[in-house]
Amino acid sequence: MRVLVTGGAGFLGSHLCDRLLAEGHEVICLDNLFTGRKANIAHLLGEPRFEFVRHDVIDPFKFEVDQIYNLACPASPPHYQYNPIKTTKTSVMGAINCLGLAKRVKARVFQASTSEVYGDPAVHPQPESYWGHVNPIGRRSCYDEGKRVAETLFFDYHRENGVDIRIVRIFNTYGPRMHPNDGRVVSNFIVQALRGEDLTVYGDGSQTRSFCYVDDLIEGFVRLMGSETVGPVNIGNPGEFTMLQLAELVLRLVGGASKIVHLPLPADDPRQRRPDIALAKRALGWEPTIPLEEGLKRTIHYFRGQ
Ligand code: NAD
Ligand code: UDP
Repeated sequence: MRVLVTGGAGFLGSHLCDRLLAEGHEVICLDNLFTGRKANIAHLLGEPRFEFVRHDVIDPFKFEVDQIYNLACPASPPHYQYNPIKTTKTSVMGAINCLGLAKRVKARVFQASTSEVYGDPAVHPQPESYWGHVNPIGRRSCYDEGKRVAETLFFDYHRENGVDIRIVRIFNTYGPRMHPNDGRVVSNFIVQALRGEDLTVYGDGSQTRSFCYVDDLIEGFVRLMGSETVGPVNIGNPGEFTMLQLAELVLRLVGGASKIVHLPLPADDPRQRRPDIALAKRALGWEPTIPLEEGLKRTIHYFRGQ
């Protein structure tokens, strides 16, 4: 098949391109390189079945493809808050452009949605049936509400135009090729520990997240795309850790003399997050296989090489 991956030069997108090429598909990677890097796909540039197109998803595009994965959107809070209006446009216009193309060429189209659609959740763990608790006017809203509108657009194109959609709600994912200055907690802690700097825990560090290793996530993507389940489907690792526990684990694995320091908690920072993955297990036969400690070791190995 010919597959379009928007955001294909980013952290998750580049792993997805690898996986699709390994399965024998042709891949068109569309990316404006805002947070993505050519280095993430440098090893693919000589591959005849791979094509890189530098383009913004906000502007329309046309390709003859069988499948579209829409991943284009900055994902870390510092990056999506850098130009929040652009972030909303990227989610909304990017979804419209992918859906319009899918409708025209009859491609199956996949949306990378997020656990952020649940906001600061009042239900724990979060099942797909939970409608969320999102501040519509805060610093995180450009991302959360942009992704929520994208889901709305996907379902309206599906109901009104019969477009063949898939929606995944991704929970915090980490691994090799995260940008070292990405600002997300796993890359921050590992890079700080490797540099011998103190680890910056925001607030008292009692807030929780559930971290999925990238290979597990990509397996979930491919299973969902190949299934008859429309979604939304949560894909994430239900192992739940406080940020203080994560900092201590990274310190133990990296070694060195770094200490933990506390910085102010950003506004609207969700208190807790953990996926209910019953649907992914039932519909896709999927569950994560790589525990946090193992995934962190692999990620630390990658960052040491950088
Ligand atoms: P990333 O920032 O590494 O990748 C995003 C990619 O999109 C980058 O290559 C960037 O250059 C590209 N991009 C951004 N704006 C664009 C635009 N207007 N036009 C074209 N390309 C554009 O982040 P990631 O972690 O790989 O995230 C990929 C997708 O998964 C995003 O949609 C994100 O919202 C979603 N997601 C990720 C996580 C996670 O934990 N990694 C969690 C939830 C959702
Ligand atoms: N965080 C932290 N130190 C950092 C970066 C993040 O303590 O250097 C916290 C952040 O406040 C949040 C959690 O780690 O509670 C996860 O943050 P991240 O930006 O990785 O993801 P998100 O908040 O979008 O889930």
